[in-house]
Amino acid sequence: MNRRYRKTIIAGNWKMNKTPSETKAFAEQFKAILPKTKWCDIVVCVPTVDLSAAVRAFKDSRIAVGAENVYFEKSGAYTGEISADMLADLGVRYVIVGHSERRALFGETDEIVNKKVLAALEAGLNPIICVGESLAQREMGVTMELIALQVKSALAGVSAEQMRRCVIAYEPIWAIGTGKTATGEQAAEVCTYIRSLIRAQYGARIARSVTIQYGGSMKGSNAHELLSHEDIDGGLIGGASLDPKALMEIVHAANQE
Ligand code: PEP
Repeated sequence: MNRRYRKTIIAGNWKMNKTPSETKAFAEQFKAILPKTKWCDIVVCVPTVDLSAAVRAFKDSRIAVGAENVYFEKSGAYTGEISADMLADLGVRYVIVGHSERRALFGETDEIVNKKVLAALEAGLNPIICVGESLAQREMGVTMELIALQVKSALAGVSAEQMRRCVIAYEPIWAIGTGKTATGEQAAEVCTYIRSLIRAQYGARIARSVTIQYGGSMKGSNAHELLSHEDIDGGLIGGASLDPKALMEIVHAANQE
């Protein structure tokens, strides 16, 4: 990470876990152990039904609330979907877009990811855009090509001003929920490449201001090593974000550097 130029952001992704009451309990426990030092931003992304409880529980704290998904249309006959304006009106500040689970299980294509990014930005939300390769793609040697495709298509039509509000999360699929973490070198290599793609499109000033996270089995014991790399500006954390103490260990690691 490089705090001089950009924010370090530790973001939890609860996936389909926790009820509204459990959200409230998590928030109380997490706030009680929050350090005074403010070296990194903290975001907790929760299921849609938990958003209200999370916004209420984290009000008057420095913890921002994020959603795990959004639909790209503004309103209309899209039963079951949630618009970016609805999220923003609720007090949600971030939204995860293009998580590999949504790509793999719910048919989210690069085109859909791009539409969601644009909708989120238009509503004033900060998208956390997930990109990453499968193990087979890594072994075939196409990681960088795939990352370029995912990053460029996610950002199609995103203005320079909007780019400053985007967060990119590099999440190798083989490291998500598997306990297998990418080495610091592997993660940094891709994060540095992602920054070079942003530089080519938006220039050096914007590229150095964008937060690029690593995600994939990050925990207290490996966070420090991962975050010691210049181009890794935080983490998107699944499993370890469900427990207040485990998430706080990562916040402490981010505070150490
Ligand atoms: C994720 O779902 O974004 C993630 C990184 O999960 P985990 O930390 O459990 O690997």
